[in-house]
Amino acid sequence: MGYSYVDYNGYQQIGVSYVQATLQDSRRCSAEKAYLRKAQERGNLKIIKKALVTKVIINPITLEAEGVKYERDGMYYTAKARKEVILSAGAFHSPQLLMLSGIGPRYHLSELDIPVLKDLPVGQKMYDHLSFPELVITLNESIVFKASSFGINEFKKYFSNQPSLISTLGGVEALAYLNLNLTNRNPTYPDVELIFMGGGLHSDFGLITRKTFRITDRMYNRIWKPIENENACQILPMLVHPKSYGYIKLKSKDPHVQPKLYGNYLTDAYNEDVRTFIASIRAIQEIIQTPAFQRYNAQLLDTPVPGCELFRFDSDPYWECALRHLAVTLHHQVATCKMGPKHDPEAIVDSSLRVYGIKRLRVADASVIPLP
Ligand SMILES: Cc1cc2nc3c(=O)[nH]c(=O)nc-3n(C[C@H](O)[C@H](O)[C@H](O)COP(=O)(O)OP(=O)(O)OC[C@H]3O[C@@H](n4cnc5c(N)ncnc54)[C@H](O)[C@@H]3O)c2cc1C
Repeated sequence: MGYSYVDYNGYQQIGVSYVQATLQDSRRCSAEKAYLRKAQERGNLKIIKKALVTKVIINPITLEAEGVKYERDGMYYTAKARKEVILSAGAFHSPQLLMLSGIGPRYHLSELDIPVLKDLPVGQKMYDHLSFPELVITLNESIVFKASSFGINEFKKYFSNQPSLISTLGGVEALAYLNLNLTNRNPTYPDVELIFMGGGLHSDFGLITRKTFRITDRMYNRIWKPIENENACQILPMLVHPKSYGYIKLKSKDPHVQPKLYGNYLTDAYNEDVRTFIASIRAIQEIIQTPAFQRYNAQLLDTPVPGCELFRFDSDPYWECALRHLAVTLHHQVATCKMGPKHDPEAIVDSSLRVYGIKRLRVADASVIPLP
């Protein structure tokens, strides 16, 4: 189809590639494993586990962050900062902590009787990567993962740090980044990622992967259950630059209560996200017509999504219905403490991650990423 093979973490993204991952000894390697664990013996680092930070302590006169309050085993403690406080609680909890500490939208903090120290639009925008897990491709040969592929030998290899089927990234083998040029503002950026799985939600009998997508029994039993023993793989489209965005609010002043997330997926004014998704489905249909796929008689499974049976299968209205019933988050939420220049009315932190209007306080995590 003319796509180049690219290093999508390099200069140019548009093209195809085997999936990349941060691995050590054939296992995924987290930032904690790669950096924190190795640094834990340092004299200038103290790690306190099982502690919940409940608030940033901010001097209301000088507007300086002085430390944090935290709870551990039912006891409350204070940690004072000699230099700065750096929040890294992620895209949900960094904004939660800022708001609990009096940094957030005035109207919202007032609703919860939280004294406002700095009126900033914390949590007012939340972008995410939405995906669609229903494009199942049946094949006539056993070239895909099945539950039976994961025999004792694969576990032995995995536990002796050798490459094994279990080392694959949730069954993902390859990615493609396409510019469908439909609603993209910048033609050099992709607007869609295609995720090629070497199996599907049926490959583990619906026990694990489908739970990360929160697919209901009703959906699973209709679409995937009947093909549990079939040769089938999946290609998931994902919107790289969605136009729709949600927001995050506090549910309570109590730091133990999770904040409320409003996804607002597929709600942009011109329905651009739905149109881009449908264009990506058409691209996938072209891909499975290529000789490489047709060698295995690849066919798109035509089981209608429950709730969309009244639409003609494969029409645009059918896909819109299916997307609205079955699109799932890939958990890439960003922008709830957006980084931006001072004149950006949505910005919470500057380019050095310092919170505007509060001294000695930074946020360093995915929440500062301004756009998906
Ligand atoms: C199921 C799933 C699959 C994913 N797959 C991929 C993938 O394949 N590739 C990819 O690039 N990304 C993936 N992501 C996204 C990726 O994990 C996140 O974007 C990334 O972890 C964000 O990093 P962070 O440091 O901002 O937040 P986090 O990794 O969430 O770290 C925040 C930390 O702060 C702690 N914390 C929160 N509140 C408090 C508090 N009050 N007190 C003390 N500690 C607190 C949390 O326990 C957590 O350890 C996935 C996410 C999920 C959920």
